Amino acid sequence: MNHPKAEGNDRNQDANAAETEGPSQHFIQAIITEDNKTGKHDGRVHTRFPPEPNGYLHIGHAKSICLNFGLALEHQGLCNLRFDDTNPAKEDVEYVDSIQDDVRWLGFDWDDRLFFASDYYEQLYDYAVQLIKLGKAYVCSLSPEEVREYRGGWNEPGKDSPFRERSVDENLAMFQQMRNGDFTDGQHTLRAKIDMASPNMNMRDPPIYRIRHETHHRTGDAWCIYPMYDFTHGLSDSIEGITHSICTLEFEDHRPLYDWFLEALDVYRPQQIEFARLNLTHTVMSKRRLLELVQEGLVSGWDDPRMPTLVGLRRRGYTPVSIRNFCERIGVTKFNSMIDLSWLEDSLREDLNKTALRVMGVLRPLKVVIENYPEGQTEQLLAVNNPEDPEAGKREVPFSRELYIEQTDFMEDPPKKFFRLGPGREVRLRYGYFLRCNDVVKDPESGEVIELRCTYDPETLGGKAPDGRKVKGTIHWVSAEHAHHAEVRLYDHLFSVPDAGDVPEGGDYRDNLNPGSLVTLTDCRIEQSLESAQPGQRYQFERTGYFSVDQDSSAGKLVFNRTVTLRDTWAKIQKKGSQGKKSQGKKK
Ligand code: ATP
Ligand code: MG
Repeated sequence: MNHPKAEGNDRNQDANAAETEGPSQHFIQAIITEDNKTGKHDGRVHTRFPPEPNGYLHIGHAKSICLNFGLALEHQGLCNLRFDDTNPAKEDVEYVDSIQDDVRWLGFDWDDRLFFASDYYEQLYDYAVQLIKLGKAYVCSLSPEEVREYRGGWNEPGKDSPFRERSVDENLAMFQQMRNGDFTDGQHTLRAKIDMASPNMNMRDPPIYRIRHETHHRTGDAWCIYPMYDFTHGLSDSIEGITHSICTLEFEDHRPLYDWFLEALDVYRPQQIEFARLNLTHTVMSKRRLLELVQEGLVSGWDDPRMPTLVGLRRRGYTPVSIRNFCERIGVTKFNSMIDLSWLEDSLREDLNKTALRVMGVLRPLKVVIENYPEGQTEQLLAVNNPEDPEAGKREVPFSRELYIEQTDFMEDPPKKFFRLGPGREVRLRYGYFLRCNDVVKDPESGEVIELRCTYDPETLGGKAPDGRKVKGTIHWVSAEHAHHAEVRLYDHLFSVPDAGDVPEGGDYRDNLNPGSLVTLTDCRIEQSLESAQPGQRYQFERTGYFSVDQDSSAGKLVFNRTVTLRDTWAKIQKKGSQGKKSQGKKK
């Protein structure tokens, strides 16, 4: 049981105290528990996920989705999907559709509660008229530059607009004219009449409506004035009866404004609660930058498997479960921090380890000819589909005289600790026999090893030799005759430094792009059983990593994305570095 202490009036302030109460309840859960105890919202929990349809969702949005939908599920409450579509210039139905797909894919459902702020335009207009009538809003005719000038600065109060004292009647008439389309863009704005000297810049008579002669993706040309985000957001929450309006920390300074509109109009008041947004290493999360990467062709699209977008992660082979688990693990706090990408990858490995079928695939093939194996003969060996899942059973893999093995599993002149194949050495073939390399065939021109001449020991099926001799290495392989060709795309971090946005003066975040983030191998060989693999299916290629079938696959050629390596290779590199230093220290 948890006994959150957060009981102050402004519980946002006490969030961190609540958070330390126990690992099982984060500060927003503590707030809700408390609200349910006091009956604040009659025990209701009603949240919303409010994307603006101006881009594809990314892993940061997943945190917000899991939080909002998750809290509703925990408390038998409701969560709406609401598009905050107040900026026609940047929004598009393409995004509206993709966002719905992504939320569903993550595993959440808004039932019949799909809403658009644009559905409330008429109501919002009425609210604005009410504010004018209450003497709390006015039409301002300063130019955008003048507005900026009048606003003042952080240490300097602003000045009242000369239009601040327009009469209610004049304001009403002009606001109607604004709506009618009698003015040009930027000629007038409707502003809240609050306090030009407020230390909070958001309270210095913020704009409520602006003129934009733009076609909206839903309302078409019905409107040429559009409500501002701050005005729209809180009132939409109110209209929908939202209890807890959860947003990211940057909105903390907007909360007084959020509350001001609700109070001024005397409407139902949801509570805004801010939490720290997710920042992830080795990637960027700003929609503007993601859009740049797409538009400048630095990635293949929003769904490029290197992108942190949900469509990108999905195409890469991420599972919804792994993303939900990740969001659960990173927690919900009020501190901005950077989460290492390896956390996300670990969640994925954990899920795929349980669910992905094991197969054999050779990325960089080297031909092996088994000289003592009869030509034209094939036998079926039994392979385990998933050692983590006894239900997954076994399958047959064909074995024949000619195989492919991984180039990296052979060295002509191996160092001591190399336990794989070399001239005169013996290894175990996974699910098969012992194999000895007797000779190598080289390309006469390049000198490159192009074939190994080997023999196998027919007595060693099952991995043991009757004479008790041991081999240290086990390697994967495919039968040359039966294997299928495949293309494999090896992905790595999109940015080579942890903080992708950290650039020296005069630099650009694009300078941090990892030039090795995509390596395409076009001549891979995969085992016969993968013939009918379908886009989206995920496998573990034994010893090599997790892979998913890409949508670019065709009947003749499968294309795989490397979803994630078997281990965190970046951590290994870092560890190696520090171990090296340590052991040097010890020697002295
Ligand atoms: P912008 O508003 O600048 O276009 P945005 O990333 O805030 O970009 P929205 O569509 O407004 O995009 O976001 C929808 C919801 O997702 C908001 O409630 C927002 O706070 C939340 N969100 C966005 N980015 C993150 C993040 N990195 N971590 C957690 N939540 C996020
Ligand atoms: Mg936003």
